[in-house]
Amino acid sequence: MIRGITVLCRAWRAPHTAPRYLHTVHQTVELPDTHRMLRDTCREFAEKELQPIAAELDREHRYPREQVQKMGQMGLLSVDIPENLGGAGLDYLAYSIGLEEVSRGCASTGVIMSVNNSLYLGPIFKNASEEQKKKWITPFCSGDKIGCFALSEPGNGSDAGAASTVARLEGEEWILNGTKSWITNAWEASAAVVFATTDKSLKHKGISAFLVEMPTPGLSLGKKEDKLGIRASSTANLIFEDCRIPRENLLGQPGMGFKIAMQTLDAGRIGIASQALGIAQAALDCAVDYAEKRIAFGAPITKLQAIQVQNLNIY
Ligand SMILES: Cc1cc2nc3c(=O)[nH]c(=O)nc-3n(C[C@H](O)[C@H](O)[C@H](O)COP(=O)(O)OP(=O)(O)OC[C@H]3O[C@@H](n4cnc5c(N)ncnc54)[C@H](O)[C@@H]3O)c2cc1C
Repeated sequence: MIRGITVLCRAWRAPHTAPRYLHTVHQTVELPDTHRMLRDTCREFAEKELQPIAAELDREHRYPREQVQKMGQMGLLSVDIPENLGGAGLDYLAYSIGLEEVSRGCASTGVIMSVNNSLYLGPIFKNASEEQKKKWITPFCSGDKIGCFALSEPGNGSDAGAASTVARLEGEEWILNGTKSWITNAWEASAAVVFATTDKSLKHKGISAFLVEMPTPGLSLGKKEDKLGIRASSTANLIFEDCRIPRENLLGQPGMGFKIAMQTLDAGRIGIASQALGIAQAALDCAVDYAEKRIAFGAPITKLQAIQVQNLNIY
């Protein structure tokens, strides 16, 4: 994205013939000074502090606590949260640029950053009362605490409206029962935005959002999922068994949960795209570096061959 946008026009071609490329137009996107500085700072941080340990973190399933704390101090865990709440006070372009660079250095750290910014802080900032914001946002900006977002369940992923986790109001407390699955940051999180049905008869319009402190009685964690990648970012079940939370921990109005979840995922997708771009750039850099250094048949491969490898990767 930052290096430029490549527009590729393919000529019509008969089946079984190679594509003919008519034009390749490179258009450079100029960034404002703040964003350029942010990109350079994040790139340096990722190259010095994340890239050298990324493989080890992934292999050992190890959370990069020290690095996450530094990212908090750099404002990377709360990029678009206003400064008066403890955030960096920047915008979503800054978030996207920072996340791309961090993901280029370590894909797992990119996931941790993305979930805290867009899936945890995002819905709270947009829907919480001023009182709730102080409690559930400010301590989650510095890197000391991180949050998670619990929507998916064993029986519903894409079909988020079919939530079977329930919340029942009893006096001054909500009582939560059910299991949330695939929850990023589950093992390290100090709080979760949790979606549960408060009125089954209303289907997705009966889902509400809650703020849940972690750990808390009645909430237990499942094992860390043994994923194929991004393993330094924990993914686990949250299991609610008569978990009681204060009545004031409702986020937004009753029945607004599905809308909050969908709005959150819309914003989250920008982060996912930035992560993918950073990871793809790291893969391309690695392939080009290898191609340029490779000795084949007793000789280095030519520059032209290396460029061909680069083009293959881009297209
Ligand atoms: C590493 C990781 C981290 C995650 N982190 C979180 C998190 O922090 N919080 C959270 O709440 N969830 C999280 N999830 C869960 C994630 O959001 C779900 O995996 C996702 O919503 C898809 O749900 P599913 O896995 O049940 O797949 P399914 O919903 O079963 O979908 C499987 C496939 O079927 C397709 N499909 C589904 N329905 C239809 C349809 N009607 N028509 C056509 N095709 C369809 C889908 O596109 C997909 O290709 C995480 C998942 C992973 C793998």
